[in-house]
Amino acid sequence: MRTPIIAGNWKMFKTVKEAVAFIEDVKGKAEVAGVESVICAPYTNLPALTEAVQGTSLKIGAQNVHFEDSGAFTGEISGLMLKEIGVDYVIIGHSERRAYFAETDEIVNKKVLAAFKHGLLPIVCVGESLEEREAGKTKDVCRVQTEAALQGLTEAQAAQVVVAYEPIWAIGTGKTSTAEDAGEVIGYIRERIAAQFNSDVAGKVRIQYGGSVKPNNIREFMQHPDIDGALVGGASLEPASYISLVEGA
Ligand code: PGA
Repeated sequence: MRTPIIAGNWKMFKTVKEAVAFIEDVKGKAEVAGVESVICAPYTNLPALTEAVQGTSLKIGAQNVHFEDSGAFTGEISGLMLKEIGVDYVIIGHSERRAYFAETDEIVNKKVLAAFKHGLLPIVCVGESLEEREAGKTKDVCRVQTEAALQGLTEAQAAQVVVAYEPIWAIGTGKTSTAEDAGEVIGYIRERIAAQFNSDVAGKVRIQYGGSVKPNNIREFMQHPDIDGALVGGASLEPASYISLVEGA
């Protein structure tokens, strides 16, 4: 009953020209009935991409958003600005932003609220470091991050959130969680969402796995009933690879 969602996280890759060429290559192919397909690109690509996907089922996301609508925040982009150019999704709280740009759970929450204020759907990233995993804190870390991120949402909003469970040690490393392990953590996140809201909301929230997902392992993750898709970095950059991911979902 939950529509699987494959989201490509391009990070700081691709010029406008490269981004538009990618869409031309994947049009009609990375579009599979019953799977939502979203490309999350650098800000500079977004106007051209929202234009390029017109008439397709492909959706475009940003990788960050500021929580204020406007103001003296040099270098920042607001939800209002993203909505104006036709962006649908926004990644919030990616571990790289938490680690390199000091994003706290409180900031993540403000950004999630700002996304809804402007009609953007958040893809909220949570996940443990290797140290936390080895200390047996995986579930605690995910619980704290998820609860904080979703605080203050209405039930209707919470039900539309996409959570990406991304163990930090699996991002860009070629090491993946097993589908069983990821599914267990994701099942736990869903339980906590049921406790924070209710089981109806928890049943609707889509929870992706992320971290070294590739065309050759996507099916394994998708077979787990609790895993609703993937947030994919490296393997989303090549058209053929991205198409395989969407087909694999
Ligand atoms: P990866 O990145 O697929 O390259 O591991 C995932 C992510 O950072 O979202």
